[in-house]
Amino acid sequence: MNAVTRFAPSPTGKLHLGHAISAIRSHDRARADGGHFLLRIEDIDGTRSRPEHVAGILEDLRWLGLAWDGEVLFQSARLAAYAAALETLKARGLLYPCFCTRAEIAQSLSAPHGPIAAYPGTCRHIDPDRRAARLAGEEHAWRIDMAAAVASAGPLAWTDEIAGSHRADPLAQGDVVLARKDAPASYHLAVVVDDAHQGVTHVVRGADLRAATDIHRLLQALLALPTPSYRHHPLLTDADGQRLAKRNGAPTLAALRADGVDGPALAEDLRAGRLPIGFALPSA
Ligand code: GLU
Repeated sequence: MNAVTRFAPSPTGKLHLGHAISAIRSHDRARADGGHFLLRIEDIDGTRSRPEHVAGILEDLRWLGLAWDGEVLFQSARLAAYAAALETLKARGLLYPCFCTRAEIAQSLSAPHGPIAAYPGTCRHIDPDRRAARLAGEEHAWRIDMAAAVASAGPLAWTDEIAGSHRADPLAQGDVVLARKDAPASYHLAVVVDDAHQGVTHVVRGADLRAATDIHRLLQALLALPTPSYRHHPLLTDADGQRLAKRNGAPTLAALRADGVDGPALAEDLRAGRLPIGFALPSA
């Protein structure tokens, strides 16, 4: 089967070397068997996405010698598809509105055992009349009732091309948000709807998104969408093993480009595991 892969950056900042590795791996996975490499701009977060970052991303990819196939897909143009998916899940009784503020959630999570990651389920227990009244007048997000969703979907697994078959455990992540107060869909919902829409067969992305794949697998089951195969690659770190991020000084691709670095030569070095001094890539 010819692989269809995608690179799906969020245009909330400049790309750095870690993004380059992700884009190269996704691109090469498609090219290895004559497939297609797609580019999707994940710009549903209207408050943080910037057009100048979109332009920078396209320029970075061209500079690295990574040509994508077809038109660029912008998530901001796909809101109707996310709304339809939300309606499907609502109609199945798997979503509930959440009125909590960030501060309220943080407070309820600062339990004696230290912070836990999952939402405590406060708004799941609001009685129906009160919920209807609040829905009419208050800003709200939509959360998935994870226990109900997992019960409805039954046991699920997904396959990582490197690590093999993996039993999905979305319950561990609690009632995640599928539509935010300030954005009409969450990352989880949009990515699942769009991977299916674009016919993506192989998702190649960083290991930081491995846990998210459990949620994505569940949403695919609930929305009757196909499940791609996955490949989560290790994240680039600094020499001390710290994950690279803009805040700890990862060089942006734009800066390397401006310094006159040869893009295709850099891409070849990254493919061969030859990293700039001060960087490391743990093996899978
Ligand atoms: N937009 C996500 C990010 O920039 C990546 C999405 C994905 O590869 O699934 O982190």
